[in-house]
Amino acid sequence: MSDKKTPPPPVLPPMVSLKESFCLFHKGDIKGEIYTCPSCKSNYCLKCAEKAKKEGRLCVKCKYLVLI
Ligand SMILES: [Zn+2]
Ligand SMILES: [Zn+2]
Repeated sequence: MSDKKTPPPPVLPPMVSLKESFCLFHKGDIKGEIYTCPSCKSNYCLKCAEKAKKEGRLCVKCKYLVLI
């Protein structure tokens, strides 16, 4: 009987982009609901996206229209 425990293999954390929750409209962390650009998949705050839409601003990265 061998009850020798083998240590579990090291689990590497998935590569998470630090920029994933960074809003390029207000240049800060996204808090609350997220809006994702349908073209380049950049994330923005939903609030910033709504404001950007009103002001006629485009996605900072790909210049795609903000569609909400
Ligand atoms: Zn975009
Ligand atoms: Zn924002």
